[in-house]
Amino acid sequence: QETGAVGPAEAPHRRLSNWGGLGGAYDTKVYPAKSLCSHCGLCDTRYITYVRDSCAFLNQHIAELEQKVHGRSRALDSEDELYFGVFQSMLVARKKKPIAGAQWTGIVSSLAIAMLESGLVEGVVCVQSSKDDRFKPVPVIARNRAEILAARVNKPTLSPNLSVLDAVERSGIKRLLFIGVGCQVEALRSVQDRIGLEKLYVLGTPCVDNVTRAGLQKFLDTTSSSPETVVYYEFMQDFRVHFKHDDSVIGGPGRKWDEIVPFFALNTQELKEVFAPSCLSCFDYVNGLADLVVGYMGAPFGWQWLVARNETGLEMLELARQVCGLEEGPVDACGDRRAAVQQSITAYDRALTLPRWIAEFLAIIIGKIGPKGLEYARFSIDSHFTRNYLYVRRRYPEKLDAHVPEYAKRIVSQYKLPDT
Ligand code: FAD
Ligand code: SF4
Repeated sequence: QETGAVGPAEAPHRRLSNWGGLGGAYDTKVYPAKSLCSHCGLCDTRYITYVRDSCAFLNQHIAELEQKVHGRSRALDSEDELYFGVFQSMLVARKKKPIAGAQWTGIVSSLAIAMLESGLVEGVVCVQSSKDDRFKPVPVIARNRAEILAARVNKPTLSPNLSVLDAVERSGIKRLLFIGVGCQVEALRSVQDRIGLEKLYVLGTPCVDNVTRAGLQKFLDTTSSSPETVVYYEFMQDFRVHFKHDDSVIGGPGRKWDEIVPFFALNTQELKEVFAPSCLSCFDYVNGLADLVVGYMGAPFGWQWLVARNETGLEMLELARQVCGLEEGPVDACGDRRAAVQQSITAYDRALTLPRWIAEFLAIIIGKIGPKGLEYARFSIDSHFTRNYLYVRRRYPEKLDAHVPEYAKRIVSQYKLPDT
């Protein structure tokens, strides 16, 4: 465990040329899932013994794990569960006093702090940044508020969060909070009974379109006018990518979002291959095996989207309500995504990029009349599942049937896909 890692705002941004590909041992080690490996960290621990059964890319078994973790698999005839997984409660919320430097309002970090300080857990697995590169992930077992806060904000790169599992076992921790994305959580759920824990809490985030460190550099260089100074970014519900820069540029201190690029202006030709193969073949966007999920895509702009899947998730949500200073609201939906998704399938395949002024204009129109709330979330899920289904069908046809979960097959079947 690296201790005393600096927070993301302080760590500088290092150019790719300084450190090559994925970094460290990843460059040479061959992982069992080979090119599909998301470097979730499991194979950096003694639990590599169980990789064949546990890896999200070697043995997709979400329905079976839903049964184990939530007591049932998702109801495929309920549109909400088909899309968002098993849940008991879904709402939107935001912290009245956001945490500075968090990805959104910091619900994840403040709930983690509350769980640790109330004694519910003894440690929190989360991911800080390397001292010399704010985008290089450093998974840790945080044991105090400062260490959790140093992990705030997304590290938009593949992160080996499970690599600390051996250290968890050695530490003697019996009550643990794990924060992570779907592929990490699927592998963790598969081995959780072997770690010697009395209680495991899983606080998940949705995840899509993640990249290697090399891929991130290409994305920043292609899309931002000042790649060196990007502190964080998000693909937002207004159909634009929002980049936050450090204090040296553009908006300067106090400006939350400094640079905005419409989705339709992204250089699709250049970026088509930028996403990691694991993420181009992932169908667990909404982190179906976490107890509580905190994202944004089912919420209005500026709000977060919370999905409590089971009793443990409800317990975590209740604590968040008591101590995190939340403003809450119900989930809502409007618009119809289907035509836009169908068009996006062809546009992505042909790698169409629009001139900037048309892209700006489209973002304004779609922002006004396009899908919102849960319908925006369904738009994003449909677009990514159809793209990923085609990717797996073309690259790994022998894996298609077993790797794509039934819920994803049903979602994809609503659209007309190219024959080849
Ligand atoms: P913070 O308080 O800022 O805490 C962020 C937490 O995320 C930290 O605890 C940290 O440990 C953890 N973390 C950071 N990077 C990683 C990583 N690479 N792997 C695992 N854990 C990490 N939400 C959506 O609704 N739709 C999306 O499409 C979407 N895409 C995402 C893609 C990625 C790669 C990631 C990491 C998250 C994504 N999210 C998405 C979640 C969303 O961006 C926020 O992370 C979430 O809403 C929590 O915000 P916060 O302010 O509460 O988090
Ligand atoms: Fe191992 Fe995780 Fe890679 Fe699968 S994704 S091969 S479990 S490190």
